[in-house]
Order: sequence, then structure tokens, then C-alpha cells
Amino acid sequence: MIELKSAEQLSKAIARARAGSLFVRFVQFRQFKVENRQNGATYDVNFFVRAGRRFGHCTCKGGERGLACKHIVAAAAVQTGIAAMRRAH
Ligand SMILES: [Zn+2]
Repeated sequence: MIELKSAEQLSKAIARARAGSLFVRFVQFRQFKVENRQNGATYDVNFFVRAGRRFGHCTCKGGERGLACKHIVAAAAVQTGIAAMRRAH
């Protein structure tokens, strides 16, 4: 589980996410499945808010170790897009 604090913190993972062929599927509010189309691996990514701070969790090895992995970043981009759409409506 990692705390999502700044774009800077996530910038390396964003670069990795762009390099890979990740496909993000929306499951339900704050829950996503991220598939790596290169090797077929699928990971579950969840977001939650605790005491006003945002956290992300991923089931991949990096995510389990508390790293900002590319799956969290890819799902966060989708989550942010959904939140923006909800605000606009
Ligand atoms: Zn991950």
C-alpha cells in the first residue's frame, strides 16, 4: 500500500506505465483490474482514502512491497478521469 502524494513521486512509474501495454478495467468505485497485455498478467488495484489521505494498493510484487508501481499509476489516471467526469456532470 502506498500513499499517493505527488506527481513527482509517481513520475517514474508513469514513465513505466507509458512504456508498457497496460489495459485498465473499471470494476467498481475505486477498484480496477490492470492487465499487462505483453505477458497476460492481471493485477487488482484498489484506492481508498483514510484520514483525508489517498492510498493505492496493487497485488503485484512491487505493490506488495509498498512501491508506486505502474499498475497503480495507470489505474490512478483512469480514476482521475472518472472523477473529473463526475464533477463535470
Ligand atoms: Zn502493481
